[in-house]
Amino acid sequence: MNARCFSGVAISRGVAVGRARVIGRIAAPTEPIAIAPNLIDAECRRLERAFDATQRELTRVRRQLPRDVPSEVGDVIDMHILLLKDESFLADTRALIRNRSVDAAWALKLKHDELEAVFAAMQEAYLKSRFEDVHQVISRVQLKLQGAKSSPLRAQRWAGAIVIAHEISPTDLSEFARLGVVGIASVSGGPLSHSAILARSLKMPALMGLSPTALTALRDGDPVALDGARGELYVRPGLTLQAELLARRIKESGRERALSRVRKLPAVTRDGVGITLSANVEIDAEIDQALKAGADGVGLYRSEFLFVGRATPPDEDEQYAAYAQVLRKLAPRPVVIRTLDLGSDKAFLPGLKPAVNPALGLRAVRLCLRHPALFKTQLRALKRASIHGNLRILVPMLSGLSEIAQVRRLIRQVESALAAAGIAFAPNTPLGGMIEVPAAAIAAQAFARRLDFLSIGTNDLIQYTLAIDRGDESVAHLNDPLHPAILKLLKRVLDAGQREGKPVSLCGEMAADPTYTRVLLGLGLRDFSVSPAALLELKSSIRRASLSDAETLVAPMLKSARPRRYLAALNDA
Ligand code: PEP
Ligand code: MG
Repeated sequence: MNARCFSGVAISRGVAVGRARVIGRIAAPTEPIAIAPNLIDAECRRLERAFDATQRELTRVRRQLPRDVPSEVGDVIDMHILLLKDESFLADTRALIRNRSVDAAWALKLKHDELEAVFAAMQEAYLKSRFEDVHQVISRVQLKLQGAKSSPLRAQRWAGAIVIAHEISPTDLSEFARLGVVGIASVSGGPLSHSAILARSLKMPALMGLSPTALTALRDGDPVALDGARGELYVRPGLTLQAELLARRIKESGRERALSRVRKLPAVTRDGVGITLSANVEIDAEIDQALKAGADGVGLYRSEFLFVGRATPPDEDEQYAAYAQVLRKLAPRPVVIRTLDLGSDKAFLPGLKPAVNPALGLRAVRLCLRHPALFKTQLRALKRASIHGNLRILVPMLSGLSEIAQVRRLIRQVESALAAAGIAFAPNTPLGGMIEVPAAAIAAQAFARRLDFLSIGTNDLIQYTLAIDRGDESVAHLNDPLHPAILKLLKRVLDAGQREGKPVSLCGEMAADPTYTRVLLGLGLRDFSVSPAALLELKSSIRRASLSDAETLVAPMLKSARPRRYLAALNDA
């Protein structure tokens, strides 16, 4: 029989071949069961037992997390445990059993629907998406009410399996990795979800955005194969396809071996120009990955990720500990820590009014300047940590020059207060700005004059220049890093940096895509910052490029209305 192929979004590269383990949506009850008044107490106790059992199960999973799992996964499980311990969550559900004389599963479904409506009404995209956690916790309790002993079944049923599921939580994924699952495909989830990040760091082939029909078309035990780089899931692969998949696996492991060979080699072009390769860091595990991959430093530490997934912001000491740790580990290499880029799709501050249009609202430096106490706490933590390594502070989403002056004033205030209290800090921490708003790119020279370095954020620069919401899949096809406007802006910023003698790096996803390495080199970029997982591939792409060829071929590209036409010639040179 010919293989049927389901396509989804490519999440984590690698080819996996195995037997399907299909996990459908956890069945919520479709109608209530009436509970007689004399049985209400017993039904409430049944609910409490299900909560307790779920909590014990999660505590066990937390304890047994594999060592190489990023700390964020533990944090997510802790958050789920906290939710189960929340007395009002249990009390409200119990009240529903009593007031409506319904069974525990129905009461839990009512509570689920009520919370879903509350989250759906939230404006903040990040907060809205946290309903996923509530849903996962309630689903686990439903399973317990339905009599499942434990959701992670016996090991022999999972080893070598490819899990096909409606959704896969980070908790489930770390458990699957421990039990020997070789690949995952889920209906829900996107490339920036916690589970996607975890799959990549565990090197587990994965795709998401699978059609729900896959869940009904597939049976447990069906032979399946998954190509995470292509985002494809094959059912009953025939002999020809199996051979093709084997060839892809061999190619993939050859690629990994070849890449590991460049680990110790310098990042120089064929004509001998040295390039700086730094790492973007957002989870703790990436600090060690950056060191392992031989990064020249951290080019972007997204500090807002310390704030994500928690009810209250981390205090000064907690932030200080996190910054000091990354500085110490990387010393003497530079570490660029970006001040809070909260708002928009990132994270939230409890008590903040939702923005009318979060991407254009009180985000990043704007939010920090509106809440100086919050900002100063971060600046104090940063300045205190500065004695532990080579710190540079980066300010996101600058649009006006006055923002730089205001940030410098706050830094001076923080330094005076620290000095008065006799607390040590390093003087003259370089201050840089992200160029990710078109206005800042157009006026780059004025920004370069007032700052010590620039960092181009193409993710936002493309979003704002081409007016395409980066979180909206329906306009994703319009995202074009080679748009003539983008190329002109990049050139303008790089030239401005050079004229003012200020270093310019690029830390958006464009830097990590080898398709654009030569374009960026040709435009004048000498400093790239990418996720540690992409670093070796970028280095290898740089080592294959000739800078003088790149410069020659980028020149006509800059003048063209259709720059993409030159890409093949540039990349073949
Ligand atoms: C960018 O905008 O390119 C960038 C690196 O920042 P972030 O993706 O965190 O907005
Ligand atoms: Mg940005």
